[in-house]
Amino acid sequence: MRWDPEVRLVVADVDDTLAEPYLPIETEMRDELSALLAAGVKLLLASGAGIGAIDARVVSRLPSHLRREVLVAHCNGAEVYGYGPAGGRLPDPLYSVVTASQRAQLRSALHVVELAVKELELRECERPPAPPGTVVVDDRGVQLSLDLGSRRERDTLLDRTRELLAGGGLAVEARPGGDLAVDVVLPHVDKGRAVQAVLGCHLAGTGPAEVWGDQFSVSGRGADVPMALAVPGGTRVISFRDGPAPDLPPVPGMRAWPGPTFLHRGVLDHLKGRTR
Ligand SMILES: [Mg+2]
Repeated sequence: MRWDPEVRLVVADVDDTLAEPYLPIETEMRDELSALLAAGVKLLLASGAGIGAIDARVVSRLPSHLRREVLVAHCNGAEVYGYGPAGGRLPDPLYSVVTASQRAQLRSALHVVELAVKELELRECERPPAPPGTVVVDDRGVQLSLDLGSRRERDTLLDRTRELLAGGGLAVEARPGGDLAVDVVLPHVDKGRAVQAVLGCHLAGTGPAEVWGDQFSVSGRGADVPMALAVPGGTRVISFRDGPAPDLPPVPGMRAWPGPTFLHRGVLDHLKGRTR
């Protein structure tokens, strides 16, 4: 797959797309992304992770004078942050879809989550990655994130949290986040809304975009699907996940990365194609 030199904005997921979950971007990725930004391409990171983690793992690794070309839609797009000329994160989000009363709903949902954790006899631990039998509960204000130690525990907690939330009548929903997390979010929050807002307000310029992600399974309600549906028709959307023909979103620009490397290694190969 050839690099498109017309692209002026890359919309990218973070976990498994730019870096391994919980880890910072590798040196080669930092260098390629820095060269991309220096060449005048803007970067919109759209992730289920919180802004603190994305700052630490990605943005703070980039040269400070280039960070003003970066926007971050954190917590599945609940808010979008930008960076100033000196490289510091701007104090207030540029965009938010979460009101004070919705934050209160999320605080109530925290009690529901704690009940589910207790029922399933999971021990709480401080920070991810969580060993099997434990959970990290992170209240990010605009989203609750639960990191589990195994896929089975994640699925069990997801199911039980959904049951309890439905019973409690709270206007929040639990969704899978990556392979090992549950995100408790407001129903109207997804990465697509944040991408649409950024494109609609020209916060990241007006040039052609390209979208990169690894969770595009439509039947699995992959977190990156809304990004594919949010961009103008014909925008190239690349799934960097390997595997049997996945049920990708039916949009004209959708492509599966051909390999031979995948996930963040595939993205690195794609970026290297820029100067090849
Ligand atoms: Mg991902």
